[in-house]
Amino acid sequence: MKQSSIQKQYLYLIREIFTNILPQHLPLSEIREQQIVMAEQILQSFIENKKIVVEAPTGVGKSLAYLIPSVIYLKEFQKNVRIIVSTYTKTLQQQLLKKDLPLVEKIVHQLYKDKILYTTFFGSENYVCLSKFYELKKDFLTPDEVLKVAYIEEWLNITQTGCNEEIEIDSDFWQEINRESDLCRNKHCKFYSNCYYYKNLKKLKDMDIIIVNHHLFFANLLAFNNILPKKDEETEEIIIFDEAHNLEDVIYQWFGQELSNTQIKFLCKQIYNLKKQRGLITKLHTFPESLKQNIIDSIVSILECNEEFFAQINLKLLQDKPEARIFLPNIVENTLTPQLSKLFNLLNSAKNLVSKREEVYKLSVFINRIVKFIKILTLWLKCEDTKNYIYWVEKEETKRKKLKITLKITPIDLTKEMQQYVYSVYNKIVFTSATLCVNSDFKFFKSSVGLYPEIIPESTTSNELILTSPFDYKNNVVIYLPEGVPNPKYEYEKYKEVITEIITKLVELTKGNTFVLFTSFELMNWVVEHIKLEYKLFVQSISKYKLLEQYKKTENSVLFGVDTFWQGVDIPGEKLISIIIPKLPFDVPDHPVIEAKTEKLQFEGKDPFKEYLLPNAILKLKQGFGRLIRRKTDWGIISILDPRIKIQWYGKHFLKSLPECKITTDFETLKEFYYTKKTCCQ
Ligand code: SF4
Repeated sequence: MKQSSIQKQYLYLIREIFTNILPQHLPLSEIREQQIVMAEQILQSFIENKKIVVEAPTGVGKSLAYLIPSVIYLKEFQKNVRIIVSTYTKTLQQQLLKKDLPLVEKIVHQLYKDKILYTTFFGSENYVCLSKFYELKKDFLTPDEVLKVAYIEEWLNITQTGCNEEIEIDSDFWQEINRESDLCRNKHCKFYSNCYYYKNLKKLKDMDIIIVNHHLFFANLLAFNNILPKKDEETEEIIIFDEAHNLEDVIYQWFGQELSNTQIKFLCKQIYNLKKQRGLITKLHTFPESLKQNIIDSIVSILECNEEFFAQINLKLLQDKPEARIFLPNIVENTLTPQLSKLFNLLNSAKNLVSKREEVYKLSVFINRIVKFIKILTLWLKCEDTKNYIYWVEKEETKRKKLKITLKITPIDLTKEMQQYVYSVYNKIVFTSATLCVNSDFKFFKSSVGLYPEIIPESTTSNELILTSPFDYKNNVVIYLPEGVPNPKYEYEKYKEVITEIITKLVELTKGNTFVLFTSFELMNWVVEHIKLEYKLFVQSISKYKLLEQYKKTENSVLFGVDTFWQGVDIPGEKLISIIIPKLPFDVPDHPVIEAKTEKLQFEGKDPFKEYLLPNAILKLKQGFGRLIRRKTDWGIISILDPRIKIQWYGKHFLKSLPECKITTDFETLKEFYYTKKTCCQ
């Protein structure tokens, strides 16, 4: 990147902020060269009107490294700009709001004698809907609901935001009182002037920085930017995607379509709740009893049919598998559409009979929802465009131990959508995370978000930056690769027994304080069943948050987890000094989305293993590894029990992608490292 003298002046300002101004407001802060470089390059990219992809390992301080250049750009270059920071987790949103942005505000005040306005905003379903709440209050409530209503009423007296972040309430009850975008009557609602959602939304108009999550960002895009109000038409928006490694999953969800048995049940419940004998139709005026009864009968039929239809899908496609892909049309008989159409007709008749505008509006919303459901169902069963879409089904257990089965239609390639909705609209975009590159290359990440140089206009192509870690991994981490573990591909039974013994030995060495990160529930459950440990064992089953809280509170504990524990977990210090990875985290190749992606690569004459499965597994290993060292003073052990890391050609690529540490195959050397560290760090 070339630097003009004017740019040099601002790059100098960045250095000045991090070396002299920031320490005045944050006395214990350290000067980190990586943080300064990241901030400089981000400002440079804004000036050049370009995108930038940055891998910033834990400890770099990436939040300030993108917030500082953003406010400099705003104050020095272009006043009519707004910064949207999009994160994956609420934890990071809170950290930005409560820790980083107040600090940035102080710096802005010191430098410019001016302020910056910032806030966070959540998806609309997180805000209470007063209209729904007061409607519910009028209903005949169960004793439990009476208590919950009283609790919400008390909260409404004090809340400024009306956002469920502030309260503890079960999701079923929240669904009865939260905002639903299609049901919201906006200015025609009698609670509009007091509506929390709109009060929060109005505040956004003047904001310089808005923190959202990836889901809300894409919801806004697909709603033609109608959710987040712009300052004015001239305002340019800069987008910062933090935790960008999670973007791909969110993009797939937003550009795909899905319909589940629980959505159909919820639709029926809102029209008429058979158990509680309440719902939309009990509130309609000038409405004949005979029509009401027909609607109730129709709902009973839909619910029965819903059960049967999804039971058929489960039987034919899933059985003992969590997901399956379909290629042929009409895999089961479409018994649901006739039933849904019947309800559609009945609600249309009701719409012609009611006189109040509000009632007509609500009936139209449910009619539209039925139309949407029939459309997705028909598309899924027709399964026509297998060249561009993956038609598949997924089952999971809900918190209430019920089976949720979802029919999904997912685009195979997101490039077109990303180009249309994101890259042709925004020029200045920052993508950052601690894990974005494989073997010092962003190719894999960029392809996952459709950021191909050939489709991005030349003037806005992306810059890239890979930062080194400020942590001393060489002295503080040992990677243990034990000898004698059988290859799980050929001797799976023996492999399971051997790794159970090794896990026992490792947990005993570190007296718990261990995460064991699995790639499948099947292997995890087998080890849990056969392992004998004298330490408290937490196994992934309940919510991640609760499990982590219990793990943190319990001395010498061990956590066995799959999937979600590989990322977004922050346990600094000696509560987590050992991470054991029994198997290299390759995706299950027959997962419908993985299978479709590998087929596409094969079709293009590429090697799916090299181009997709391997880089994906390397990134996941980096994420798991990243749980260990969270602070400069942390130390610990990473044990990778999968022998393929030593014997297969690709093993070296995994090791090369991790920070440089000592590697040993000898348990005695590991023991020595542990006791030395334990003694000197006490
Ligand atoms: S304006 Fe919409 S969200 Fe607000 S109270 Fe009314 S219906 Fe509910």
